[in-house]
Amino acid sequence: MPESLYDTLGVQKGASADEVKKAYRKLARQYHPDTNQGDKAAEEKFKQVQTAYDVLSDDEKRKAYDRFGSTNGRGAPGPGPGGVNVDFGDLGDFSDILGGIFGNLGGNARGARRGRPQPVRGADVETEVRLSFEDSLRGAEAKVPVELTVACAQCGGTGAEPGTAPVICPECNGRGVVSESQGLFALSQPCPRCRGNGTVIEQPCAKCRGTGSERRRRTFSVKIKPGVKDGTKIRLKGKGEVGQNGGQNGDLIVVTRVAKSDTYERRGDDLVVEVPVSFPTAALGGKVEVPTPEGAVSLKIPAGSEDGKLLRIKGRGAPKLSGKGKGDVLARVRIQVPKRVNKKERELLEELQKGVG
Ligand SMILES: [Zn+2]
Ligand SMILES: [Zn+2]
Repeated sequence: MPESLYDTLGVQKGASADEVKKAYRKLARQYHPDTNQGDKAAEEKFKQVQTAYDVLSDDEKRKAYDRFGSTNGRGAPGPGPGGVNVDFGDLGDFSDILGGIFGNLGGNARGARRGRPQPVRGADVETEVRLSFEDSLRGAEAKVPVELTVACAQCGGTGAEPGTAPVICPECNGRGVVSESQGLFALSQPCPRCRGNGTVIEQPCAKCRGTGSERRRRTFSVKIKPGVKDGTKIRLKGKGEVGQNGGQNGDLIVVTRVAKSDTYERRGDDLVVEVPVSFPTAALGGKVEVPTPEGAVSLKIPAGSEDGKLLRIKGRGAPKLSGKGKGDVLARVRIQVPKRVNKKERELLEELQKGVG
C-alpha cells in the first residue's frame, strides 16, 4: 500500500502539473486493463493511479489533500474505496475534509442522481462593438469576435481520448454516490471518483485534459440598425455560451460604442449642431447653411435671434430605431462677435451702441 497519492504516481510532493500528468500517463499505460488482462494486481494499481491523478490533477482537490495530509499527523492517506480514504479523527473532520475536497461540486453532484441531470441554460455573453458616428446613423454590418467555451474539437465534448469512451464508474457502479459506514452512521457522498457523474474517463483527451470543452474564438456578423446610440444593446439569440444537458444556449449581447462626432451632439433622435451666425444676420434675419447627415440645408434665421436659440429642422436627424422616420436637427445659433472692425463698421457699431444705451 503506497504511503501517499504522490507515492502512487511516483512524484515529489511539489511536482508540477506537467510532471503529475506525465507520471500518470506512463503508469496508466503500464497498468491499463487492456494490456494486463485478468491481472488483479494491475487492475488495483490502475485504480489507485486513477484516483491519485483525479485528486492531484485538480488544483482544488490537491490543495485540500495537501492541507489534510500535513495536519493529520499520521502521514498522508492511501487511496481506498471512496477514492480518497482518509483517516478520520472524528466525524467532524470527515465532513470538513470532504467539504474541502469536494465542496466545489456543490448541489449539482448531489442532486444529479435524483433523476436525469437538469438542463442548464448557457450564460449570456456581453461584448462591445465600436462604430463611427456616421456608421451609427447609416447602419452597418459589424464582425464581432467572441471567446466562447465550446465542445472540444478533438473528443467532441466527451473528454475521452478519441477511440475511447467514458465507462461506468467502477467505484459507485454508475450511481454517482458512495456510502461510508461510520458506526451508527451511513454517510452518502458524491462519488469522488466520478464526481457524481456515474461515468469516468479512463484516458482523458489530451487536448482538453478531459474537460470536454475548450475556449474558442468565434466571429459573428451583426447587423447594426441605422440610428443606434452609444450603449444600444443588440441581442443575438442562442449565440452565447452553450447550454448543459440539453439546456438552451445563452445569448450574445452586443453593446454599441459610438464615437463622438465633431459636428453633432446627439440628443435622443435629434442632432444638435452649432451654427455660426453673424451679428447683423441675427439682428435682421437671413439665411445660413446648416450641415445635416444628408447634406447641408439652407435655414432661415428669424430677425432678432438670440445667441443659443435652437432652430428645428424637421426630419433631418438620426433614424429612429423603430424604422419609422427620423429625429430632427436642432441648429443652435452662435452669434459671432467680430474680433476686428474697419472704420465704417466701427462707426455703425458706435451709432448702434448709442441707440442701445
Ligand atoms: Zn462514481
Ligand atoms: Zn477533448
